[in-house]
Amino acid sequence: MIEKITDGIYRVEVPLPRNPLKYTNSYLVRGDKESLIVDTGMNREECYKALSSALKRLEVSNPIIFVTHLHADHIGLVGELGASEICFSKKESEIVLKMFDDPSEYWRAIVEKYMANGFPEEEARKMLKLHPGIRYTTMDRIEFTEMKDGDEIEIGDFRLRCIETPGHSPAHMCLYDEDKKLFFSGDHVLLDITPNITWWPFLENSLKSYLESLDKVRDLEVNLVLPGHRRLWKDLRARVDEIKRHHDVRLKEAFNALDRPKTAWEVAPSITWDLKYERWEDVHVVQKWFAVGETVAHLEYLLKQGALQKEIGDDGKVRYFR
Ligand SMILES: [Zn+2]
Repeated sequence: MIEKITDGIYRVEVPLPRNPLKYTNSYLVRGDKESLIVDTGMNREECYKALSSALKRLEVSNPIIFVTHLHADHIGLVGELGASEICFSKKESEIVLKMFDDPSEYWRAIVEKYMANGFPEEEARKMLKLHPGIRYTTMDRIEFTEMKDGDEIEIGDFRLRCIETPGHSPAHMCLYDEDKKLFFSGDHVLLDITPNITWWPFLENSLKSYLESLDKVRDLEVNLVLPGHRRLWKDLRARVDEIKRHHDVRLKEAFNALDRPKTAWEVAPSITWDLKYERWEDVHVVQKWFAVGETVAHLEYLLKQGALQKEIGDDGKVRYFR
């Protein structure tokens, strides 16, 4: 599906089958000579078909691609679209290239951390077969044009400034056109769902980074927010404030769950998740993985605030307590 948003900007809906996100919004910014694609969808047939046929209909060839962050549903197709250039955060490109060098080592370290937080080994093994970051990410070793906070990309009348917003991912980047008051928010700010804030080996305190990154963009003059998933909307500030309140609630739930020392795995079922399951046991293993990562991020935030403590038991498991 192609939708014209405004002069020179189109939205392409790239389907994500059997994924609760439903689709990725891929944007086309059209200039006189060059065109820019913001995000691509996953490296899988359904996404490729949708995006490549949309680009054909819009008569775009050899676009520049900008990737907001390293998740597979945004970076997946960068190697498949005949891009003339791929612009991507310097910090995240280093992470992605390291992952290409040794994917099993990259995932081993992460799985170990989750297991220390109580994630059962058997479920972790299942997760490794299903995680979209393993199945559907880009498979090519790619040359990226490394972007830093404040760098600008000029396409026709559009002047897009990179704003680094770590939190959802280690060095997520939004694009902001100050004159036209357009804000490509990636997965930093979404309207219909709240971005997943998980534990990252590359961030000290990912929830703190995320909340700071919300403040970094809150007061920008914006008339239209163009997010990575679901609906576009107008009032950035109102949504930023709503997401901040959401994390306050989640922090309270995590804190209240600690009637005794618990692992993040044990705390997770006490938190209200936006999932269509009644019981924690029925939650899909990949969603459990995201939920436990998010729980760790919240517990670590409370720990670093001094509200909690943690200990490592004889069984090697990390337990948080008040
Ligand atoms: Zn994402």
